[in-house]
Amino acid sequence: MGNWFKVIIIGGGATGTGILRDLALRGVDCLLLEKEDFATGTSGRFHGLLHSGARYAVKDPHSAEECIQENKILKQIAPGCVEDTGGLFVATGEDDLAYSEKWLEGCKNAGIEVQEISPQEALLEEPRLAKNIKKVYRVPDAAIDGFRLCAANVRSAEKKGAQARNYTEVIDIIKEGNKVKGVIAKDLVTGKEEEIYCDMIINAAGAWAGKIAAMAGVDVNIVPDKGVLVVFNHRFTKNVINRLRPPGDGDIFVPHGSVTIFGTTSRETTDPEDNGATKEDVLALLGEGRKLIPDLDEIRLIRAFAGVRPLYQPDGGGTGRNATRDFSLIDHEKEAGITGMVSVVGGKLTTFRLMANAVSDYVCTILKIPGESVTDQEPLVDDFCRLKPNSKKEFLCQCEQVTEDMLLEAVEGKKRISLSDVRRLTRLGMGPCQGTFCTFRAAGFYQKQKKLSVSQVNAMLEEHVQERWKGNHPVLWGGQAQEAEITRGVYLSLLNLDKLERCDGNV
Ligand SMILES: Cc1cc2nc3c(=O)[nH]c(=O)nc-3n(C[C@H](O)[C@H](O)[C@H](O)COP(=O)(O)OP(=O)(O)OC[C@H]3O[C@@H](n4cnc5c(N)ncnc54)[C@H](O)[C@@H]3O)c2cc1C
Repeated sequence: MGNWFKVIIIGGGATGTGILRDLALRGVDCLLLEKEDFATGTSGRFHGLLHSGARYAVKDPHSAEECIQENKILKQIAPGCVEDTGGLFVATGEDDLAYSEKWLEGCKNAGIEVQEISPQEALLEEPRLAKNIKKVYRVPDAAIDGFRLCAANVRSAEKKGAQARNYTEVIDIIKEGNKVKGVIAKDLVTGKEEEIYCDMIINAAGAWAGKIAAMAGVDVNIVPDKGVLVVFNHRFTKNVINRLRPPGDGDIFVPHGSVTIFGTTSRETTDPEDNGATKEDVLALLGEGRKLIPDLDEIRLIRAFAGVRPLYQPDGGGTGRNATRDFSLIDHEKEAGITGMVSVVGGKLTTFRLMANAVSDYVCTILKIPGESVTDQEPLVDDFCRLKPNSKKEFLCQCEQVTEDMLLEAVEGKKRISLSDVRRLTRLGMGPCQGTFCTFRAAGFYQKQKKLSVSQVNAMLEEHVQERWKGNHPVLWGGQAQEAEITRGVYLSLLNLDKLERCDGNV
């Protein structure tokens, strides 16, 4: 039946796509619905750190144990999504060494391998570090690409027969008495609404999970917590650099792809879509960052962005940095007598596979589906949109080395072409020039290859340029202000971008 699935998963972030893969590998007939593109929620707006768990070793020991377990598994099963950079925890002249002792004890208890190195050795490896550092420890932190990870989960699941639809929003939950029966889903490209039925809904909508729960008449108290991150135009450390102190604002640098991501902050918000950064956020972060990397102002900032943590606050739970980074599985039958739906909230991207495993086990028990999770053994399909040995080496995006073949692969089977979606799969426009040239080359390429109309291409360009601008404007001073003027010149004088013919945006 086209409109019936055993399980429907709502949310195409790391958690939802991870569940889709887990269930698909068990042979369960399942469908995932995502209102935007996969990984446009928090899983595409995070720090990019595959935690070793060391950050949580003192305050959240259970989380620390889960992180190190998952860190090891993901390095094995998803090598195309993970870069094993290694990490350092560094105590500066300002930091209390009594904390280091507690931290070492916590890491030992969680099973996190820690090796002390001398400040001199650390400075040889990371010459940009402050000269007054007192203690340095090596940990198995790494960088992880959330966009690629979610796409890899979807591709792995599709290979096993599961379905995933992006740009499809769940606008209501269908109930019969106390039983959840399905969803009303709206295709945001065609505008068509459809009823889709199932035996079980898994609400994996992250910071939006409370809104989905409300559609079914149940309560999931999510306190959205916003974190701002800034991006520098190149990598300037080899390792992930963490400040050795209780987790706070502006204490982690992650070398990620061709850039460095630095952050973050933690502020309660009311809206899961509240993902803009301000100049004040950026300045406050830089103030902290200089304590680890004193010459930070000499490095060009290219953008700032924010993500919203899906922190779950059952009665009496903490908020912000005091809320647990553990995840919770809520069975609405036990909580509120509503059958046919569970919600999974909280956690971290690093622990998405573990969360998916736990939810899938739980749901399969209810649905009497035999078998067990194999996601810790089975490699992810993560080799897509990569430079192939036989690719024509003509780069449309030089910063990120994106070829025509990669652009074609990125839109294969897609119902709409969006440069932002292509960016998530290929990193087009994510490097130092922030799409100043490759945006137009890619638009021209698609126009020719996919026979797009002029107004369709103009809409595609405008959407991408606006999205890039959202991240650029909070960091517009110094070198980046000069760069922005060059970009503006290209947009307005060469391309007349503000006067182009428009279509409705659905390309
Ligand atoms: C600033 C910041 C930094 C972080 N850094 C790290 C880090 O370095 N390492 C780490 O491990 N973790 C980190 N985290 C935590 C981690 O990013 C999140 O825990 C994780 O990405 C949450 O994934 P998710 O799939 O649960 O939610 P999301 O990725 O937000 O996915 C939920 C999806 O549901 C979709 N959705 C919502 N409503 C509907 C609807 N009605 N219909 C269909 N779809 C819908 C949304 O569009 C969204 O894509 C960070 C978080 C923040 C905010």
